[in-house]
Amino acid sequence: MVKVGVLALQGAVREHVKCLEAPNTEVVIVKKVEQLADLDGLVFPGGESTTMRRLIDLYGFFEPLKQFAADGKPMFGTCAGLILMADTIVGQDSGHLAVINMKVQRNAFGRQRESFETDLHVTGVGEDVRAVFIRAPLILEVGENVEVLSKYKDEIVAARQGNFLACSFHPELTDDHRFHQYFVSIIEEAKSAK
Ligand code: GLN
Repeated sequence: MVKVGVLALQGAVREHVKCLEAPNTEVVIVKKVEQLADLDGLVFPGGESTTMRRLIDLYGFFEPLKQFAADGKPMFGTCAGLILMADTIVGQDSGHLAVINMKVQRNAFGRQRESFETDLHVTGVGEDVRAVFIRAPLILEVGENVEVLSKYKDEIVAARQGNFLACSFHPELTDDHRFHQYFVSIIEEAKSAK
């Protein structure tokens, strides 16, 4: 049994909860810092990364989240959540939680393709993973220890560094729960390695 939180300060929270629900998973909607204490993993939903960061600071989540990451507890961010996890964001002086060594560009697909859907191969997850992109960020570069999990055309759209997982798109907006199952398997591994 693993206990997974979804950070619920802003964004598409319920959708993630639905995808995570499984017999081996307890899901917690996280609104208070104290709730982080007994979680095995945490999801950052899509939404608006600047707003999420403001609320993270306002409610005193920043240092506890850094500590959560430093403890090696798995994190998974989708879209705005991916931006929160990147250590470099184009046009900004610094990243937010900076737990994945990658450079990202916000709203990278331009007006014409603000939203679209496609099927992608995602290493560890499978074939034909339905991917919904909404004002999505792109991963422009990744560091040495980062594994590229998926590309759309030539662009990197999903990556993993150790226990930290991120994708540009929204697996939580589909009925395909394989991406979340993959995250739960990372949590299970991390837990049994302790
Ligand atoms: N463009 C948003 C941001 O920069 C992310 C969009 C999303 O999460 N759907 O935070």
